[in-house]
Amino acid sequence: MPSASLKLIELALAKSNALFRRIFNLLPAGAIVHAHGRILAANAAALAILETDARERVVGHHVMEFIHPLDQARVRNRLESMAPDQRPNDPAEIRVLTCGHELRVLGMTTMRFEHRGTTAYVTVAIDLSKRHAMEAKLRESEENFRRLFENMSDVYYRTDRNGIVLMVGPGVRKVLGYEPEEIVGRQAENFYPQPQDRDALKQALGEKGEVVDFPGQMVRKDGRIIDISINTRVLYNALGEFDGVEGIYRDITERKMLERELMRLATTDPLTGIANRRAFLGQTRDALSRCERYGNKLALALLDMDHFKNVNDCYGHAMGDEVLVRAVQAVQQELRETDLFGRLGGEEFCIALLEADKADAMAVAGRICARVEALRFPHEGESFGVSVSIGTTAYRHGDRLEQLMERADRALYAAKEAGRNCAIWHEAA
Ligand code: GH3
Ligand code: MG
Ligand code: MG
Repeated sequence: MPSASLKLIELALAKSNALFRRIFNLLPAGAIVHAHGRILAANAAALAILETDARERVVGHHVMEFIHPLDQARVRNRLESMAPDQRPNDPAEIRVLTCGHELRVLGMTTMRFEHRGTTAYVTVAIDLSKRHAMEAKLRESEENFRRLFENMSDVYYRTDRNGIVLMVGPGVRKVLGYEPEEIVGRQAENFYPQPQDRDALKQALGEKGEVVDFPGQMVRKDGRIIDISINTRVLYNALGEFDGVEGIYRDITERKMLERELMRLATTDPLTGIANRRAFLGQTRDALSRCERYGNKLALALLDMDHFKNVNDCYGHAMGDEVLVRAVQAVQQELRETDLFGRLGGEEFCIALLEADKADAMAVAGRICARVEALRFPHEGESFGVSVSIGTTAYRHGDRLEQLMERADRALYAAKEAGRNCAIWHEAA
């Protein structure tokens, strides 16, 4: 019975006017006529969508052959629920499988019609795969961006012209410990513990319009102060007026700590913890240039342990090291915060006494000799002591560090000659 009625429709289609058939074939959208599930006609666009040139690969086949299994029930329902009013149903996105085994998404709409008591359908479809692919790409790139934004350890921020935070990225949770909502609406400046950092940033932005890797600090919600690096730029509105700033900052506390640690390692003597030769000479040079500029006073004291070879020889190198450490501690007791103290090498040390004249320097040197002499080092049930000789001199206007050191060295030599465990002054000629 269906086959008889199908025949009738097929016949009717075959007999239909040539112009109508041409138009049907020229339609830019794919169109098929089907009844009882069987495809009775397909236009060129439908064959193109289904990736075949052979009409017989489509016509005569069952509609469901081309519908993705997951959409077959939906297609069946859509067809069965159509009223015979000949109006097209609502377009739907249906997945089809082409003759080339490709999956495509089609936008489909179907009209139902009756022909001599048989229900037939015309389904019109356009290929949405390209649009779908584009949308998927867009969604993916949006998702990538969102993920990046959400997981970024840098904090994006934007302020208005009054410095009020308009937007802040979720990275702020990790970096400052605040929820973004707690920051939006507040003055960006509130998070800078040092007003001078904020002013330096403002000034740099004012001069250059943007800053890169600008250092600063911020206060976290828990009160901890962190080191940050800021990249930011000034924004202008359409009228060219200042409209706020936009930028990112990142927590560089760890990097800073590492930098400080590297700096410490590069500038301190590992045995005694005081400045090493290079650092001491650098600091003293800086101090000398201040003396030069402001006419400040400075005295230099060069120290060398007496008969230190004997200490090593008699008590061992490890004991020698301990002597050096304790001698340094003894010296430090006689120094002020502002004095510079460094190990020039071996058992030779140097002190730059700021704002000290001959009397001050000789007094300090004398006290140092006494303190070092008073140290006792236990050894095999007994104890021994050490002593130090010191040569002192003072900065004279125009002196270079080398000249100052040379005079101190001569004074030290004189102290050794004079019997050691004493300080000798060398007057600038
Ligand atoms: P002087 O009174 O003339 O200075 O006699 P000295 O024996 O101290 O002679 P000098 O200053 O030339 O000798 C330095 C000795 O200090 C040589 C070296 O073995 C020892 N020394 C140098 N650096 C260290 C160190 O880091 N640890 C130890 N234990 N000994 C050191
Ligand atoms: Mg010595
Ligand atoms: Mg020496």
